[in-house]
Amino acid sequence: MHLTGLHLLLSYACTNQCDHCFVHSSPGAPGTMTFAQVRDAIHQAKELGTVTQVYLEGGEPFLFYPLMLMAVKEARAAGFEVGIVTNSYFATTVEDAIEWLKPLRELGVGSISFSDDAYHSDKNDEQPPARRAYLAAQQLGIEAGTICIEPPSIKTDEHHPGEPIIGGDVRFRGRAVDTLSDDSLPRRSWSTFCECPDEDWVDIGRLHLDAYGNLYPCQGVCVGNLNRQSLKEIAATYDPEQHPIIGPLLRGGPTELVRAYDLPLNGAFLDACHLCYRARQQLRERFPEALAPPQVYGIE
Ligand code: SF4
Repeated sequence: MHLTGLHLLLSYACTNQCDHCFVHSSPGAPGTMTFAQVRDAIHQAKELGTVTQVYLEGGEPFLFYPLMLMAVKEARAAGFEVGIVTNSYFATTVEDAIEWLKPLRELGVGSISFSDDAYHSDKNDEQPPARRAYLAAQQLGIEAGTICIEPPSIKTDEHHPGEPIIGGDVRFRGRAVDTLSDDSLPRRSWSTFCECPDEDWVDIGRLHLDAYGNLYPCQGVCVGNLNRQSLKEIAATYDPEQHPIIGPLLRGGPTELVRAYDLPLNGAFLDACHLCYRARQQLRERFPEALAPPQVYGIE
């Protein structure tokens, strides 16, 4: 593991309850970091010696504005670049958004990503909050980006004409598995998902940390917990082959995860993450430390 990025999920709570949310965030979701936890995490990231970037996300980090400001201040004092991901709910007008963002510029935030898509705003809104926040960031000279997730749709595969594939950027894990896995979307046999599409499990570069101490690259697949071990120990002793979930994923993707534990999932799935998430839901009680927290699996 060569960790360069630490992503602090300041809270699982959010103003929204999006269909595609990987971590099942919602207005009532528990799991908010304390000031002490944030300070400790930044301190441990500094001690590790390889981290260069700290991201603040959630849930919705602007809901915990004083906590977020403190996190930026501490992370900047430790010499980290700081980025924030937000749904921009606070951007009532461009002028108001400037007031929200100004203190962040003064503390040295490097970049802010605004979620700008149909999941986060009313499609009839001519200037959605993310657009207002983006303009405000630009006026303040903060590097701004947008994250746009298109709803799933059916497209043709240019490499295999005639074979339909799923368009859009939704990955079928988290809440999307229950809310967006439409029966009309094309599926493939469970035996064809032999690779994890998104994670480099051997050389992990970034981890998410939540309020329960869970550290995970992909949401809900934990490599350690800060309440039990230090970040340094977790990074030094990480052994992907020996991990009960990551081992099989490395050897043969979600298909191998199903095979390794002989799970009754021999059907058709939308993508690798869909099969992986269904398999992990079935393994969660058997490996509660590796597959946590329960709320990421839709368990209240
Ligand atoms: S295959 Fe599994 S571990 Fe890999 S990105 Fe998808 S959900 Fe995460």
